[in-house]
Amino acid sequence: MPTSMPDMPDSRNWFAETPATRRRRLTASRRQGMLIHLDGEQLINFASNDYLGLSFHPAVCMGAKGALDEAVGSGASRLVSGDDPMLHRLEQKLAAWKGYEACLILGSGMLANIGLIQALADRHTHVFSDKLNHASLVDGVRLCGAKSHRYNHLETIQLQKLLEKHPAERRIIVSDGIFSMDGDSADAAALLGLAQAHDTLLLIDDAHGIGCMGPEGRGITAEHNISGHPRLIEVGTFGKAFGSYGAFILGTAELIEGLRQRQRTLIYSTALPVAMIAAAETALALIQRGEQLQQLRENLALFKAQTEELGFMASDSPIQPLIVGSDEQALQLAAALRDTGFFVPAIRPPTVPEGTARLRFTITAAHSSEQIEQLTARLRELL
Ligand SMILES: *Cc1c(COP(=O)(O)O)cnc(C)c1O
Repeated sequence: MPTSMPDMPDSRNWFAETPATRRRRLTASRRQGMLIHLDGEQLINFASNDYLGLSFHPAVCMGAKGALDEAVGSGASRLVSGDDPMLHRLEQKLAAWKGYEACLILGSGMLANIGLIQALADRHTHVFSDKLNHASLVDGVRLCGAKSHRYNHLETIQLQKLLEKHPAERRIIVSDGIFSMDGDSADAAALLGLAQAHDTLLLIDDAHGIGCMGPEGRGITAEHNISGHPRLIEVGTFGKAFGSYGAFILGTAELIEGLRQRQRTLIYSTALPVAMIAAAETALALIQRGEQLQQLRENLALFKAQTEELGFMASDSPIQPLIVGSDEQALQLAAALRDTGFFVPAIRPPTVPEGTARLRFTITAAHSSEQIEQLTARLRELL
């Protein structure tokens, strides 16, 4: 076996040791409806982005199973031989539902955002981002080498000043729709107003909002009545409210055609398996019917009424964070909830800013009112 000098790093000492307080753990867990089996315990899951409970809805599972009779993998990139007609059909349905000219389905939200920003921007482009944007947007901006300007969370006045200060031919404002760790919402109409006033594009990633927010669950751009605007590009995913896996980009026909030609995470990545598309298509039909969204809204109203005095952050979305402060306090509270059968993760820095360790509760349509009442009763005891 080849040896090297003792101080020369190999794969065993390449990484510096992760401090114990920062250590992330992958714990094998099995989900069963709203229950999660973890380390031999059975807990009620308040940590899932499956906001409408569609990931285990019988019709959605049946949709996927039907496709699986034919094949599992798609075998190639969409540009080679993986471009099943079902992808095109779902793209048309999504574009029509969301009010855009065209749609492009990608392998995941991470792939969609990294590849989209890389296709839109180069080192001459200026990108203006909310400081709390999702990592996929942050990485997209980093990897394309664009000039990056970050404004404080939701501070559109600061954004306006940055836009005034940094003129350039090609500029893009980038924001989450619903923010994943705070559950609050971007002022999409104000952002579009700034985009128009300053001749920039606006990219909104509403991964958490589509399916849950706005009329018929069409997301925050529908709530603000701006979807389909030619300055606006929108990203959504199938991994959250749709209960499946994958992502999509919405925009003008010309934009989407340009992405088909350029987006490297489309061209050089295997097409999404048809089973995921079939599941997402069934999920879309259920979302359009609206039963689960109605239930989600009732469950959220119940949760909010029962936690009114407990100091939760202001959020109308299914993401309901409770800032605790220190990492230890957050871990203690999560452990105390777990002792009585509730799974709620403690989210700590560096995922969230220093000193804002929190418990991140997610409420879904598939929780029963008893489960929500039990959880909130326990919380009132603990706080
Ligand atoms: C979850 C999420 C993504 C990533 O989507 P995946 O399909 O899980 O890769 C991107 N953006 C936002 C805002 C998200 O919440």
